[in-house]
Amino acid sequence: MIHYQDVNVNFGKFNVLSDITFSVNQGDFLHIVGPNGSGKTTLVKLLVGLLTPSSGTITVAHVQMGYLPQKLLTKVNLPMTVREVIYSGFAQQRLKPTLAECELIRHWLNIMEIPQLFNESMSYLSGGQQQRVFLIRALISNPELLILDEPTSALDPSFREKFYELLYRLQQDQKMTIIHVTHDLTDAVKNDCKVMYVDQKIKFFGTYPEFEHFEHGGHHHG
Ligand code: ADP
Repeated sequence: MIHYQDVNVNFGKFNVLSDITFSVNQGDFLHIVGPNGSGKTTLVKLLVGLLTPSSGTITVAHVQMGYLPQKLLTKVNLPMTVREVIYSGFAQQRLKPTLAECELIRHWLNIMEIPQLFNESMSYLSGGQQQRVFLIRALISNPELLILDEPTSALDPSFREKFYELLYRLQQDQKMTIIHVTHDLTDAVKNDCKVMYVDQKIKFFGTYPEFEHFEHGGHHHG
C-alpha cells in the first residue's frame, strides 16, 4: 500500500531523514517511534503530501485517507462547532449534513464518550475533548489508511486504552491500515504490529517482539 525508496529530506543544509526505505502492506498496524526531533512527523507529512522529499520516491495507493496531524493537538480557538469540524472529515460534503450523516456523527460522539458536545463550539472544549473530536474527524470517512501523529497525548490513560482497543478492532474487522506516531508505546502495542524506530535513519523495522529484543540488546546500552 505504501513504499518509500531511498527517501531523503533536507531543510536547507540540515538533513532530517536519510536513506528511508520501507513498505507498509494493507492491514498493517505500524508504530513509528524515536526521540524528539528524529523525523517522525516529517516522515508522515511526506505520506499525506504536505512535504515532498528532497530525493527518493514515495508510492502510496489511491485510497481514502484519514489523517490526524500533530499540530492540531494544542488547544485551538476554532470558530466552528463540533458537528462542523467532524463534518469536514467526510469524503463528500454538502452545505449541511443530512439526517443520516448527523446520526453517524452522534454515533461516533457516543463511541468517544462525548455525546453532549454535538452542537458545542470548539473553543469551549478542553484540549482532550478537542482531541477526541479531531480523532472522530479522521475516522468518520472510514478510511482505508489511517495516519495518526501522537493522537493520544491529551487523552486520559483510561480512555487511551479504550481508544487503542477501537483501533485494533478497525484493523482486524476492516483491514484498516494504521500508521501511528508515538513517543510512548506502552498502551498502544500488540505483538502482531510492526514497529519502526527512526532517528534520521531507520534504526529498526520489524515486529514488536523483535523490537523488544532490539531495545534490550544494545540500543540503550550502546
Ligand atoms: P519528530 O516528529 O520526530 O519530533 P520532526 O519530524 O517534527 O521530528 O522534526 C525533525 C527535525 O526537522 C527537527 O529537528 C525539526 O526542528 C526539523 N524541522 C521540521 N520541520 C521543519 C521545517 N519546515 N523547516 C526546518 N526544519 C524543520
